[in-house]
Amino acid sequence: MPAPKQRKIALMGYRSVGKSSLSMQFVEGKFLESYDPTIENTWKKSLRINATDYELILVDTTGQDEFSMFPSQYSLDVHGYVLVYSIENAKSFEVVSALYNKLVDITGKTYFPSVLVGNKSDMFQCREVSAEEGRKLAEKWKATFLETSAKHNISVSQVFQTLLNDIERADSNEKPN
Ligand code: GDP
Ligand code: MG
Repeated sequence: MPAPKQRKIALMGYRSVGKSSLSMQFVEGKFLESYDPTIENTWKKSLRINATDYELILVDTTGQDEFSMFPSQYSLDVHGYVLVYSIENAKSFEVVSALYNKLVDITGKTYFPSVLVGNKSDMFQCREVSAEEGRKLAEKWKATFLETSAKHNISVSQVFQTLLNDIERADSNEKPN
């Protein structure tokens, strides 16, 4: 049996948008009302997609804003990015957009596998970012767009499965259109 493919994914975005909650929900199937925001954690999960075994390494960053330095460990040997904002926080949407531009600058690439995630979809009553705005931004990036709820486990596994597929496609040099 071939060794599992190791894939490293970084979760980035403004503080408190749910990066740790998405990781924990996906890896452990749990949701906590509070999780220490200062912990930079690495989560690991083994999974199989289309008969391929993966060892997924999730780098759960402590969060950035538009002025943050971009630590090089987030651009080295990272295969793909989950860029997270919260649908009830317009500022977090601005931050995610700025982060993407920094990634382009730092990696010098015009395409890297990424998923744009609008988390906290259960808080639609306080919505500040429309799904349409999210979709448009993702389209610009040639990224997948998903609205999720880490709290209710809505579309969480899709985030990582889609990203793994995109990474696979980028690997085999088939450019997305
Ligand atoms: P991080 O700083 O981006 O890692 O954010 P956390 O995962 O620590 O989440 C910040 C806060 O938002 C915590 O109180 C979470 O319980 C809450 N939270 C995270 N995801 C969701 C969600 O999908 N829905 C709701 N209602 N709250 C969430
Ligand atoms: Mg966190």
